[in-house]
Amino acid sequence: MSATPAPIDYTQLAAEIKRWAREFGFADAGITDIDLSDAAQGLDDYLAAGHHGGMQWMAERAHMRVHPEELHPGTLRIICVRMDYAPPEIQSAWDVIHDDSLAYISRYALGRDYHKLIRQRLQKFADRIEREVGPFGYRVFCDSAPIMEKPLAQKAGLGWRGKHTLTLSRSGGSYFFLGEILTDLPLPVDAPVSDHCGSCTRCLDICPTGAIIAPGQLDARRCITYLNIEHKGSIDPELRPLMGNRIFGCDDCQLVCPWNKYAKVTVEADFAPRHGLDHARLIDLFGWDEATWRTNTEGMAVRRAGHEGWLRNIAIALGNARHSPEVIAALHARADHPSDIVREHVQWALAQQAGKRQNSQGTAA
Ligand code: SF4
Repeated sequence: MSATPAPIDYTQLAAEIKRWAREFGFADAGITDIDLSDAAQGLDDYLAAGHHGGMQWMAERAHMRVHPEELHPGTLRIICVRMDYAPPEIQSAWDVIHDDSLAYISRYALGRDYHKLIRQRLQKFADRIEREVGPFGYRVFCDSAPIMEKPLAQKAGLGWRGKHTLTLSRSGGSYFFLGEILTDLPLPVDAPVSDHCGSCTRCLDICPTGAIIAPGQLDARRCITYLNIEHKGSIDPELRPLMGNRIFGCDDCQLVCPWNKYAKVTVEADFAPRHGLDHARLIDLFGWDEATWRTNTEGMAVRRAGHEGWLRNIAIALGNARHSPEVIAALHARADHPSDIVREHVQWALAQQAGKRQNSQGTAA
């Protein structure tokens, strides 16, 4: 007769899971149930107001977002994890933002694409759990499915939603990625985190385009991160001057956040900046032809912009740069680009530069 397996002590297993999470490079882990009814109204309001812009996929799969069990039948709990990505001396990001000859790329996107790295790490984490409890139902995610990762992270105790809408941790600021394991294990859940923004409004005040229209409400249609990554096509000319030199993403709301003095520098070598992209010159990046761009952005999140979007965004930044013969020459070199979108933004940038030249001549006279 074979021995009956010992029943699983889920309280002890939850404690082990949090310990293993750190062994797999996650800075924190928490467990929550699948009830997202509190977040559902916020999602409905966001979509009804059109604040998702052209991200139609958000509306199409809204029901699934608030029902994680539809993503993976049998799901009872979600193990939420956080992985820090901040490079050393992240505050020097301001030096790049304030130098209009340089390209600003969001600090999360300077190294290897986090999606694959975190999914692989979550898979190893799930394998570790399986070695302990035997076969169990699960599915791993990292920003790759209709899942409300921020409300789930808050419920799991990883942090609260800051007024900028990002997840914010008292012990780790906001420079981190989130990942999830949906599971059928009936683990004990953690307590949610309460809000610690208080009377602070720094992120609302600093947003270059006024995209944070109220505490916790982001209009993606004005958000630079949406405009230079998710939005395809022409960018509203009224917003272009406000984008400055931010060619992929934007970090201003995080850089001013007082809680980020507690942000942890990443321990992942794969997140280290590649090709000097943490302080690259706009003109140099604008000179990358498609083959060079493909080679240099292999395996990186900046790929999401596409080469056309990359040139569009840099054209805007060059339009916003101070007048110089080098900037004009770089723009003229792209004036006949086959893409309508690139040509339109190059023409806009040349017009901006022409205006600056006239102004400087008028001042000199
Ligand atoms: S900047 Fe202030 S208001 Fe904004 S998320 Fe940070 S603490 Fe909250």
